[in-house]
Amino acid sequence: MKNADSEKDAMNTRAPSPAAGALAELERELRSCVRGEVHFDRMSCGLHATDASHYQMMPACVATPRDEADCIAAVSAAGRCRVPITPRGGGTSLSGQTFGPGLVLDVSKYMDRILELNVEQRWARVQPGMIRDLLNVQLAPHRLHFAPDPATGNRATVGGMIGRYVHDLGSGLMVVGGEKTFGDAVFHDTPLERLLPVTAAAAATETERSVLAMVLIIDRSGSMEQDRRLDLAKEAAQQSVRVLDAHDKAGVIAFSDDAEWIAPLATVADKADLLQRIATLTAYG
Ligand SMILES: Cc1cc2nc3c(=O)[nH]c(=O)nc-3n(C[C@H](O)[C@H](O)[C@H](O)COP(=O)(O)OP(=O)(O)OC[C@H]3O[C@@H](n4cnc5c(N)ncnc54)[C@H](O)[C@@H]3O)c2cc1C
Repeated sequence: MKNADSEKDAMNTRAPSPAAGALAELERELRSCVRGEVHFDRMSCGLHATDASHYQMMPACVATPRDEADCIAAVSAAGRCRVPITPRGGGTSLSGQTFGPGLVLDVSKYMDRILELNVEQRWARVQPGMIRDLLNVQLAPHRLHFAPDPATGNRATVGGMIGRYVHDLGSGLMVVGGEKTFGDAVFHDTPLERLLPVTAAAAATETERSVLAMVLIIDRSGSMEQDRRLDLAKEAAQQSVRVLDAHDKAGVIAFSDDAEWIAPLATVADKADLLQRIATLTAYG
């Protein structure tokens, strides 16, 4: 018969679990800065160890943030303790995307409200755990409707739908660099630090500051013509380029049947040229 630890190890086959010391530190931090619930017990973690897929992995802990400030606090704490994070909405994903070995951030419990609704301009600002069908119930009296219609609409959250949609776009962002790129403090005072709710400790010397290098990979196959997908992917790529500093590096690869460099990885000296190259991408294949 397997003991509890070997059973847990067997479930955690995809990625190494965080060290016990890091988890103890994370538990202290989460309990002091997150107002929502923080769970490290086996039952709560077990409830978040699977989704609508056949996969299973025991997370080290689960937090249910009450609001945006709680999310920022939890992400910052996990960053400081070097514990990976997996966000979770309704948990209806089919490929095991909603759990990992570290912290599962479950936004479905408390962050499920409309924050702002502008009927005239036909938009709503919602929390990520807002369930798609409940959003439409509240929009119906205004003759508005949020169109994406997954079969799981009575469980699927807006955050989860977007997470899933971004995945389906086939586009991605990679940060590449040398052996020191992911070391302590290297993102200090860089565009990445300004983008993320994570603060890197100050680098000891100016020479330790890293150059940020990004390769943007854009799917330009024919299916990207549907629903303005390619336009959205291009806009996301351009936004990423806009936040880079002149000494950072960026490159763009577009793929359909073949992949080609639209702009080779190089220093972002001429941002306008890079933005223009992304803008002129068209779908084919
Ligand atoms: C029976 C069945 C039918 C389905 N039918 C369809 C369908 O018709 N069309 C379709 O597109 N899909 C379908 N799906 C897949 C899935 O239900 C949908 O993709 C749904 O939109 C996922 O929403 P969720 O809230 O459950 O997200 P989750 O499964 O909880 O998460 C989805 C992804 O988004 C990430 N995520 C969640 N919340 C956040 C957040 N706040 N910030 C950043 N990332 C976040 C997660 O880490 C995960 O990678 C189906 C699934 C099942 C089981």
